[in-house]
Amino acid sequence: MRENDYCCPICKTDLDFYSRYPNYVCSRCALKVADEDGRALSFFNEGMHGGFVAVYTDTNERRDSHTCYIDGIKCYADEAYMGGIVVQVNT
Ligand SMILES: [Zn+2]
Repeated sequence: MRENDYCCPICKTDLDFYSRYPNYVCSRCALKVADEDGRALSFFNEGMHGGFVAVYTDTNERRDSHTCYIDGIKCYADEAYMGGIVVQVNT
């Protein structure tokens, strides 16, 4: 597989390939994350130095899980190595 021969597993948008995140989704799909019941989720870094926080977008209630769904496809969200959040399809 060529280094740049990668696309978003959800919407097939062309993306750069990162070996650290072999199944990551594009930023547009990452905005559509929801829980198993379809409730919208938002992910944040815990603070300046990373960490991972998941909350329900409507209530800001914390969710103690990295699991999320995009268009019904099970995904896993975590803090990215260089900061920010990365969402990957579960394999
Ligand atoms: Zn996408």
